[in-house]
Amino acid sequence: MGSFNFGELVLLIDSKDRRYLLSLKEGDEFHTHSGYIRHSAIVEMEEGSHIKASSGKPYLVVRPTMSDVILKMPRSAQIIYPKDIGHILLVADIYPGVKVLESGVGSGALSTAMLRAGANITGYELREDFATRANKNVCTFFGEDSLNNYTIHIRDVYEGIDEDGYDRVVLDLPEPWKVVPHLSKAMELGGIVVAYTPSITQAMKMRDALNPDNFVMQDTFEVSVRSWHIEGKAVRPEHRMVAHTGFITHARFVKGNLN
Ligand code: SAH
Repeated sequence: MGSFNFGELVLLIDSKDRRYLLSLKEGDEFHTHSGYIRHSAIVEMEEGSHIKASSGKPYLVVRPTMSDVILKMPRSAQIIYPKDIGHILLVADIYPGVKVLESGVGSGALSTAMLRAGANITGYELREDFATRANKNVCTFFGEDSLNNYTIHIRDVYEGIDEDGYDRVVLDLPEPWKVVPHLSKAMELGGIVVAYTPSITQAMKMRDALNPDNFVMQDTFEVSVRSWHIEGKAVRPEHRMVAHTGFITHARFVKGNLN
């Protein structure tokens, strides 16, 4: 018995740091320009060891992290990148059992991370094909059981929110301010709303829509990550970086000012 099981995800990394994500299936083979590797041979491997393709080229075999999976997931819409997801999990304070409304769900990258942190998610998504893709992506990572905590409705969140009792509302869509009028009915007091927007004018409109009596501790920020190249005495920032993805706006929903 090896250390991997069929049905599991595995990441193969070559000497040039090219990464390949596979779902291990009995009888399947992984093919590259440098030969092939049988999945049945990968199953026998110890995690963290090297396996040789038929050409002799070695690949490191490890389990993928959630970020590896998110970056490789098939996309229908642009995903939120791991650097931003990490902060969204913190500012939204996602914990096991928290009741979240997420809209839209897109490819399900953010959903995956919130599910892993234990959220119970209701998704509102306009496009059925995107919802199907998001469900598939979530199942690839967690298996079918994850769908117990993940229900997507095909609908326009601008038109309203049917349920109430949400602890968190997490928005990644073009006009999040159109959701704000529905929040007071849908959210628990003390809850948190988060909006991710690529452009600062969207963040400004969102801030304008959040009445400061009901939405306190308002904050907007962006996450800038700059990797460094460290090799002997050559120590400098990497030449390339992702300079901009989006702005994160968040606030807490409270009872209005009594005065
Ligand atoms: N956060 C997602 C990406 C969301 S992309 C991820 O990490 O994968 C934005 C999504 O919002 C798209 O899928 C789009 O169809 C959906 N959307 C746009 N307007 C909407 C609306 N009014 N109601 C519900 N979903 C909407």
